[in-house]
Amino acid sequence: MNNINKKIYNFIQKIIYKDIITKKVNYVKTRFPPEPNGYLHIGHAKSIFLNFYLAKQFKGTCNLRFDDTNPKRESVHYINSIIKDITWLGYKLNNNIFYASSYFDVMYMYAKELIMKGLAYVDQLTKEEIRTYRGTLISPGINSPYRTQSIKRNLLLFKKMKNGYFSEGSACLRAKINMKSPLIIMRDPVLYRILFSEHHQTNKKWCIYPTYDFAHCISDSLEKITHSICTLEFQDNRKLYEWILNNINVTHYSNQYEFSRLKLEYSVLSKRKLQFLVAKNIVNGWDDPRIHTISGLRRRGYTPSSIKTFCKKIGVTKQENIIELSLLESCIRNDLNLNTFRYMAVINPIQLHICNLYDSYKEALTIPNHPKISSMGTRQSIFSNKIYIDRFDFYENNTLILNKKLTIGNKIRLRYAYIISAKEVIKDNNNNITKIICTYDKNTLGKNPNNEKISGVIHWISIENAIPAQFNLYDQLFLLKDPELEENYMKHINNNSLIVKQGFIESDILNNISKKRYQFEREGYFYIDKSYYVTKKLIFNRIVTLKSNIKKPIHKIIK
Ligand code: ATP
Ligand code: MG
Repeated sequence: MNNINKKIYNFIQKIIYKDIITKKVNYVKTRFPPEPNGYLHIGHAKSIFLNFYLAKQFKGTCNLRFDDTNPKRESVHYINSIIKDITWLGYKLNNNIFYASSYFDVMYMYAKELIMKGLAYVDQLTKEEIRTYRGTLISPGINSPYRTQSIKRNLLLFKKMKNGYFSEGSACLRAKINMKSPLIIMRDPVLYRILFSEHHQTNKKWCIYPTYDFAHCISDSLEKITHSICTLEFQDNRKLYEWILNNINVTHYSNQYEFSRLKLEYSVLSKRKLQFLVAKNIVNGWDDPRIHTISGLRRRGYTPSSIKTFCKKIGVTKQENIIELSLLESCIRNDLNLNTFRYMAVINPIQLHICNLYDSYKEALTIPNHPKISSMGTRQSIFSNKIYIDRFDFYENNTLILNKKLTIGNKIRLRYAYIISAKEVIKDNNNNITKIICTYDKNTLGKNPNNEKISGVIHWISIENAIPAQFNLYDQLFLLKDPELEENYMKHINNNSLIVKQGFIESDILNNISKKRYQFEREGYFYIDKSYYVTKKLIFNRIVTLKSNIKKPIHKIIK
């Protein structure tokens, strides 16, 4: 344990460091224990980051353990997605993948040990009766009439449970602790229940399955986990965790510590709620870029390092709080700012005709790929008399001179090109502008010799140089800051959370398609959608805008 990194950022590191100093432990082993009943989300990333970080800091190891005790809700599909997500985040999974189900034989043996010690019994009350007998926070529980059954009978009934003699819900194994305990979890908790479901790992071998509480502490002990870190809602379960390990014949005692779970503004982070959004087609699958699953973030274009930076910044405490979405956004902006190529993309195209240039005029312009990093090179672009600009960069009513907008009578610079001035507009029968007629000043390439007053700089693409592309613009899925607090959270879905636009992108992007992530000038950072690799249709997902626009609508209304 020499040469460990002694930097302490959170209370769990403090505990581990103390355990090492006082020789309570002579190695460190953590675990991340997902139930394979859904995809991982950014809350899980917090836990993965913490567990793997601690293992690395203290020169220990971290296991991935599937907490697969409920075959009714689990599947190999979810197992594969979890492995894929953790690997994508950059954590090595080689010999450290385990399954609670591999220990079912041992758990069964421990359950029998508790029965033989008079510390567990087979209860035949119905589910409803068990709930009623358990009491409430203000009233104590009542003993089940089956509680005083003989050890011999309990052993026999437990065996019958295992052999499929009972139907689901007609019997269960309960710990015999204290029906009057102030902690409801200690009022004879269920240790085993009957589920006639084939298990993805053990197939048809079992029809009884241990509960989370029984399986978790035993799995930790068998894997010789030193620090078992979980979220605060398991605080009461810690007593049961310790009770089980203290009453069975184990050689290793793990300790449980709790931290507060991640909550993120405008988001739901619960597999059950995410599952609902997917099942009801409110989002397009588990990897919809609007939800904060790891696969959704990946499809949107977040990088593993931006997610890890975020996890580091939010820290680990016992306080419940909600993290600002802008923090997550700033992590990806910082990650992409210095290494993405800039391009010009016109998302709401309108044609602009430069009338003092002849039709066949084509001028090659050299444009830097990054305004500040010359080593990122340059690309060729074409300037001609027909270009696209964004229709929202033009404002017809010139009584209001707006910053950064072209209007009849004012002047604006085309990025990396010339200063232009708008002369007139051409409209269709419905009074919609179809074309803007401008002139350009040929002496203004990269300079402004007459010190003309210009309203700003806008992006553009010459028609010769523009290829069609789709742009998916995302906004937060919920209009409420904390939708998890609201029972009726589905009422607060943002109907404009995805806006699809058909526009144009500089054709040079095809030469750099392998870069995947780009900054489209003035529009934000974008990521090529995975469907491109199948359809070859250019679709870009907006990862994030250039500045935070949370709570502001992202699309402007077309009048
Ligand atoms: P969910 O509520 O999303 O279904 P869960 O706790 O049931 O989450 P598990 O698969 O059991 O999901 O979680 C695996 C680990 O991830 C657990 O240790 C759990 O405490 C942790 N975890 C889950 N959600 C969060 C969160 N929002 N923030 C931090 N850790 C989390
Ligand atoms: Mg869980």
